[in-house]
Amino acid sequence: MAVTYSIIAPIYNEIDNIPEFYRRVKEVMESTGKNWELLLIDDGSTDGSTDKIRELAAQDNRVRPVIFARNFGHQIAVTAGLDYSRGEAMVIIDADLQDPPEVILELAEKWHAGFEVVYAVRTEREGESWLKLWTASLFYRLIYRITDVKIPLDTGDFRLLDRKVVDVMNTMRERHRFLRGMAAWVGFKQIGVEYKRVARQAGETKYPFKKMILLALNAVTSFSYFPLQMATYFGFLAAGIAIIAIPVVIIMRLTGSQAFIGQATTLISVLLLGGVQLISLGVLGEYIGRLYDEAKGRPLYILREAPDKE
Ligand code: UDP
Ligand code: MG
Repeated sequence: MAVTYSIIAPIYNEIDNIPEFYRRVKEVMESTGKNWELLLIDDGSTDGSTDKIRELAAQDNRVRPVIFARNFGHQIAVTAGLDYSRGEAMVIIDADLQDPPEVILELAEKWHAGFEVVYAVRTEREGESWLKLWTASLFYRLIYRITDVKIPLDTGDFRLLDRKVVDVMNTMRERHRFLRGMAAWVGFKQIGVEYKRVARQAGETKYPFKKMILLALNAVTSFSYFPLQMATYFGFLAAGIAIIAIPVVIIMRLTGSQAFIGQATTLISVLLLGGVQLISLGVLGEYIGRLYDEAKGRPLYILREAPDKE
């Protein structure tokens, strides 16, 4: 049976969302009249979501469970979904119903019109704290400015990807993944569709501040050398200031000026430069740590249960 649509939903402790999510996806996908499959990736849930997923798979053979041995994180869970997908078009969607499954039809329409990446742009966000909104907005704009690929603004992972795109992405086995960036980097014909992101149906966000920072770091380090270059810029700036300061201070001394005498000036400049050096070392460390992770070449995820091949 050839599958047209593969719906990919990562799940981490979403027990109260799964039944409704499945119901709505099923309703929407049945209206297309095409064959579809729903890949539910259990990312090490501890709340019984795993059994719920198995239950659904037992009732409906279009539901294919991918069950992780532990929590590997959202981006890796989606990656596993892409690995096991068999469709001609893959749709990445959150299981908490923040991305309305009905929007899939609009994404599919653009796909039929010949676009290979159709990403969903959030025009409005409901039920999220101002801190989340503000940090998210800042994050998208920062990434846009400093990375080399033009990653669309206000766009999450909710999107449709053509088989051609997924085949390329599946060969990109980098460990610290930022899928939105990877999808933009690949190229092909891309277009956005606007939608309103609603509040979570149940439960709480699984993206605490720490995970958001990590995602942002992965995004920046995967697609830009800017943080590394910062050290060079600052080095030139400090050296420039010193070169100008030398004659200036000599002249001031010769003319009897008392400015820049004393420990405070020395201490401040030593601390400033020391701080900048340590930060630069830390930035270097971020890149080297990621290099080390890549060098180890461990698998991206470990499965407890893989879906049936057929
Ligand atoms: N998720 C996951 N692994 C994680 C964190 C989240 O699979 O480590 C899933 C989660 O179950 C949800 C989706 O990723 O289906 C998006 O997460 P969440 O809704 O918590 O993020 P937010 O919408 O708050 O940014
Ligand atoms: Mg959510």
